Amino acid sequence: QVSLHQITKNFGATEVLHGVSLDIQNGEFLTLVGPSGCGKSTLLRIIAGLERQTGGSVRIGERSVDHLRPRDRDLAMVFQSYALYPHLNVFDNIAVPLRMRRLSFYHRLPLIGRVMPGRAANERAIAEEVRSVADTLDIGHLLDRKPGQLSGGQRQRVAVGRAMVRRPVAFLMDEPLSNLDAKLRVHMRAEIAQLHRRLGVTFIYVTHDQAEAMTMSDRVAVMMDGDLLQVATPDDIYRNPLDIRVAEFIGSPK
Ligand code: ATP
Ligand code: MG
Repeated sequence: QVSLHQITKNFGATEVLHGVSLDIQNGEFLTLVGPSGCGKSTLLRIIAGLERQTGGSVRIGERSVDHLRPRDRDLAMVFQSYALYPHLNVFDNIAVPLRMRRLSFYHRLPLIGRVMPGRAANERAIAEEVRSVADTLDIGHLLDRKPGQLSGGQRQRVAVGRAMVRRPVAFLMDEPLSNLDAKLRVHMRAEIAQLHRRLGVTFIYVTHDQAEAMTMSDRVAVMMDGDLLQVATPDDIYRNPLDIRVAEFIGSPK
């Protein structure tokens, strides 16, 4: 469970988050939706540890993570621009976090590191993990390709694969579909929803697209001007908007 308690954020004199509290259940697909500039990315980056909140706290499971670096939070972040390594093939792109983990492990044990025991065994384990993740995502046949030889949707799956190998307790996705054309975007919505069901881990998804939010999510959190206006199931938001701004944004009948 990810919980946010009274998160505030200032950029200089401007407060862009005004005390956001939210409990996200284990395994839930929760979407933060709201107009451009309302603070979605800032909130997600605070959860990820990429940005430090001005006030309030973030808990994951039973522990406060405020003092933890991003990579120690057991979260995976998938950005709008996937930032794949263009010179590496799909296999190596997905393997990056696994190899980094091994490196940092050996750095902490300099004596053993010099000997590098079981290097081949480790490569086999990495290969197994990469193949299994690639199969889950139906990109097993693309492992030798470079990112430049992939479609947008395939690239997006490689980025998800790279996040998956870290076995995160939650996926954080910031508008991962916004670079795709309309048709592919609709297709990828279904794919991400399916991936969520298959993995069974928490997804925190950010979009400014209300249709995306309403079709994919277990619950939707509607954000405006740095405040959460309503957090509820899509059905509830649509039928019982708590605020005229929610109704207008979602397009509920008035
Ligand atoms: P979009 O849908 O356009 O991505 P968003 O909801 O993700 O918008 P944020 O990126 O979280 O919005 O920005 C929230 C507010 O904080 C905006 O007014 C933005 O201008 C401001 N902001 C974001 N990052 C910074 C920064 N590094 N320095 C100053 N202001 C910032
Ligand atoms: Mg944003």
